[in-house]
Amino acid sequence: AKSAGGNRFELADPEADARAITRHGLTTALPAALDRNEFFIEYQPLVHLGDGSVRGAEALVRWLHPQHGVLGPDRFIPLAEHTGLIVPLGRWVLEESIRQAREWRERYGEDTVAGPLRINVNLSPCQLSHPGLVQDTVDILERTGVAPEALCLEVTESALIGADDDLLKPLRRLAEMGVDIALDDFGTGYSNLANLRRLPVSILKLDRSFTQSMQQFPADPVDLKIVEGIVSLAHSLDLAVTVEGVETGAQAEQLRILGCDTAQGWYYARPGPPERLHDLALVDATG
Ligand code: C2E
Ligand code: CA
Ligand code: CA
Ligand code: CA
Repeated sequence: AKSAGGNRFELADPEADARAITRHGLTTALPAALDRNEFFIEYQPLVHLGDGSVRGAEALVRWLHPQHGVLGPDRFIPLAEHTGLIVPLGRWVLEESIRQAREWRERYGEDTVAGPLRINVNLSPCQLSHPGLVQDTVDILERTGVAPEALCLEVTESALIGADDDLLKPLRRLAEMGVDIALDDFGTGYSNLANLRRLPVSILKLDRSFTQSMQQFPADPVDLKIVEGIVSLAHSLDLAVTVEGVETGAQAEQLRILGCDTAQGWYYARPGPPERLHDLALVDATG
């Protein structure tokens, strides 16, 4: 698609041209944006399906762009991956969200109903293959005094498909330290299920498409069987199952009955500022 014809077509199409300029503009603005602290993190609660308590949150990065307003990660993470800026940006997200986890711990202590609140952080494939990942993570945990057990790193299934031992080594070291590794967007990457045993993961995050198929009640019996099969396989391998994209109480109930452990979605809360998690966790701890 990078032929001369493709370029001519883009120039002849004002919308495509504007998109390209924006993409180019955003890409060149990224490094300064990091220096100017234009990124911020929203936190979305992770809820235990059995008792409804908040167990932690996923950190989701946003960019407060001076001209375009708040941009979601889908607009700029791919650009940051392309230019390599994802490494310093990802390190910033890791540090900032682990600091936040310490603040939650200071606020609630170590032994709320659910123990200290945990923090989930997304890792892009470039971060995985960057040699500083393990040391950076160790340094941040030591600086903040947060236990490795309170951290979960989310890696997409597609990033690990066909991963060789060199790529898995840093994840294995982190897992040995007590950091949880979650396989994100599980079910979209067509990975060999038997392959799971080879990966240092302790959590499967079922992709939103499975949750969407639970919208009808009763849900499609084939979809039910598939989720049921994944959950029982996961549990037999000692993996916990988290579901994302839960938007209704009916979905939550269906997924709870199917044996899923933890849920995340608009039904509980949209991603929001860190103070909101304080309030949500307090409601659970007292009610
Ligand atoms: P993800 O890791 O699959 O994150 C879940 C996405 O689903 C988030 O979109 C979240 O806002 C959205 N979501 C949560 N609950 C619901 C729901 O009930 N219904 C629907 N329709 N959507 C829901 P968001 O925040 O736009 O993030 C998009 C993706 O950007 C993430 O997908 C993740 O892959 C990536 N991302 C976000 N933050 C970071 C980061 O710090 N580093 C890296 N490498 N990637 C990130
Ligand atoms: Ca994720
Ligand atoms: Ca996901
Ligand atoms: Ca997703």
